[in-house]
Amino acid sequence: KRNVLIIGAGGVAHVVAHKCAQNNAVLGDIHIASRTLSKCQAIIDSVHEKGSLQQDRHLQAHALDAMDIDATKFLIRATHSQIVINVGSPFLNMSVLAACIETGAAYLDTAIHEDPAKVCETPPWYANYEWKRRDACKDARVTAVLGVGFDPGVVNAYARYALDNCFDSVDSIDIIDINAGSHGRYFATNFDPEINFREFTSTVWSWENNAWKSNAMFEHRQDWDMPVTGKVTTYLTGHDELHSMSQNLGVPNIRFWMSFGEHYINVFNVLKNLGLLSEQPVRTARGQEVVPLEVVKAVLPDPASLAPAYTGKTVIGDLIKGIKGGRTQEVLVYNVCDHRACYEEVGSQAISYTAGVPAVAAAMLIANGTWDIGEMANVEELDPAPFIALMNRMGLVTRIRDAQGDRVLDPQQEAP
Ligand code: NDP
Repeated sequence: KRNVLIIGAGGVAHVVAHKCAQNNAVLGDIHIASRTLSKCQAIIDSVHEKGSLQQDRHLQAHALDAMDIDATKFLIRATHSQIVINVGSPFLNMSVLAACIETGAAYLDTAIHEDPAKVCETPPWYANYEWKRRDACKDARVTAVLGVGFDPGVVNAYARYALDNCFDSVDSIDIIDINAGSHGRYFATNFDPEINFREFTSTVWSWENNAWKSNAMFEHRQDWDMPVTGKVTTYLTGHDELHSMSQNLGVPNIRFWMSFGEHYINVFNVLKNLGLLSEQPVRTARGQEVVPLEVVKAVLPDPASLAPAYTGKTVIGDLIKGIKGGRTQEVLVYNVCDHRACYEEVGSQAISYTAGVPAVAAAMLIANGTWDIGEMANVEELDPAPFIALMNRMGLVTRIRDAQGDRVLDPQQEAP
């Protein structure tokens, strides 16, 4: 499969465009479509500035409302795109997926579908939207890889790798997401504040003893000893990948933990308790209707603007506990990513970089047939070895820490 249509022109799309350009010998022409044409054009300018383009192929910007399925179908056909990387807002997933099913293009995204009107969905979330189109994908022989950013995405592949290669049985997977970076601003979110806060204001679901457990945000705290950061404090958080891994892996306990500093928690709690994270409109004294969350979003720094000053590293991985050869063991599969190195390479911070690179790696595996399965899958259902090996060469290196020590994981070399 050849020619990629990137939907969205935000922080993740920026990385996706650079990485597609670096690999356009495999991926072919690159088209970027979003509501605001100038944002697509700015990404194209940055690709040219960094000299990312490998081969002289099309790199073109388009204005598109991706909620409009017919317009999206038209663009897929007009650009001869056989792979669509949807890194627009998560409200677009079902429309873009429909356009792919109707045109036969492969579909990739990095986040679960969200309905703007619903803050809290019943688990497993994928069953409310994406999985309802499984049969349609299969009938149309359309490859759809869901949630192929870092988390969800790479962490799903890490779990699958560890299950297949390091254990006879697994009792728990703790996904640990640490951003030990600093952007130097008073308060900011690393991606769209609206999406980011929705993650923390709804019920925190965890998978415990083969059942869903509902928790509140910042209710459960856990300290970990992580590479690079040492001891670090995290809080149980709800996250997309639990909603597929719980159904696909047969592991009784799967949890997601994210690091937060005290300052972040304080500011977040003040905003939340004042009602400023609400999506419900309020009327001002002058009779104007405003959505508090939209006002907060308007006054916070644009996440993309954080990149130039961002320093420090992200450490994200899976801590897996289980039995091998009758003995209990613990394995950490993880990645370390440096904010400044990402900025130097593609002009982005590490959060966008770690989400964008896996999506492009997946597109390349579809282009060369390895992951072109002609149906819908979450990442843990696919062979993780070629994915991890390819990302090792694309700037996201996987490491493993187990009883034998801490080393780069090359899944095509490592003996089980
Ligand atoms: P941004 O908010 O920066 O960008 C979203 C883009 O979507 C914008 O360019 C916006 O366009 C575009 N968009 C919104 N509505 C439409 C529409 N109707 N038609 C066309 N384009 C539209 O998001 P990010 O780049 O930070 O994140 C992108 C995705 O990646 C999100 O789904 C996010 O949840 C996910 N993500 C996943 C991670 C992972 O590890 N799995 C990590 C980080 C993010 P415009 O500006 O022109 O309105």
